[in-house]
Amino acid sequence: MGNTGIFVPPVGMGVLTVGRTQLNLPLAEGAAVVRYALERGIDFLDTAEYYETYPYIRAALAKTDIRPVIASKSLSHSYAGMDRAIEDMRSALNLDVIDIFLLHEVREAPDFESRVGAWTCLCDAKAKGRVRAIGISTHYVDVARLNAALPDSDILFPLINMESLGVRDGAGPGTKEDMAAAIRTNSERGKGVFTMKVFGGGNLTGSYLEALDYVSALPGVDSIMVGMGKMDEVDRLAEYAEGVIDRSYVPDIKHKKIRIDRGDCEGCGACVPVCPGKAIRIEPDGIAAVNHDVCITCGYCAAACPVRAILLF
Ligand code: SF4
Ligand code: SF4
Repeated sequence: MGNTGIFVPPVGMGVLTVGRTQLNLPLAEGAAVVRYALERGIDFLDTAEYYETYPYIRAALAKTDIRPVIASKSLSHSYAGMDRAIEDMRSALNLDVIDIFLLHEVREAPDFESRVGAWTCLCDAKAKGRVRAIGISTHYVDVARLNAALPDSDILFPLINMESLGVRDGAGPGTKEDMAAAIRTNSERGKGVFTMKVFGGGNLTGSYLEALDYVSALPGVDSIMVGMGKMDEVDRLAEYAEGVIDRSYVPDIKHKKIRIDRGDCEGCGACVPVCPGKAIRIEPDGIAAVNHDVCITCGYCAAACPVRAILLF
């Protein structure tokens, strides 16, 4: 990955999928999926402080000698918050050195300025050898461009897919072409790049191979991070990474959707500001509602809901 000296497979496993905001698998079941991915050669995992999925990874690693590259990230703004997030991961996964740790979901370039404390902590952690590579995850083209200009950043983790679903640029929508250009610039400047949302949160799953091929072919992309929650999903993606997938493969495209349990929703509004695409709102009757035309099933709203009224099925 760029100048980091870290080597990853062409497809990585997003562990979010097995966790509480999505499938919410029992620990042993989720850990088994993680371990299966490792055994199939997908030895690159993405997680986050916010996802609360470290226990799945720890349980998976307890039953294998494979040691994957693990990337994590924190939504922290402050130095102290980021410092705590780094130590929590080192402790939870029994790691001396974290491979990759990122600022999680930087929204527009000014948001980076507001998180300078957390960024300074990441730089210090790298200098002290607690983290090997640092960088930014983002849905925003302007933030991807900013990352390319950051001398201390090693990694970009951007959102891109063949329909530009969820790509943002400043206060408005962004395009896949502009994000692809930003990715290329990052790569040319020695940053490692792995991408998210190749299927636009499930909306492009029906164009499975086309969606994977689009991102795989982008100059500068080192790996594609894909959420996996089932063994057969792991199998197909391992086959894709190995170049042996049946090119006539068409997945089951019965899409899961974010749904509101109207009986449980208390109308508190906590889900609204965390949505990256303004896809959820409070209706006049005081209950949340989702616009499925723009929802990318990222699950952030579900994690913010204090009464678990947001479901994915
Ligand atoms: S409604 Fe929820 S799942 Fe959909 S994009 Fe917004 S935060 Fe993500
Ligand atoms: S966070 Fe949960 S309870 Fe609050 S408005 Fe959203 S869905 Fe309803």
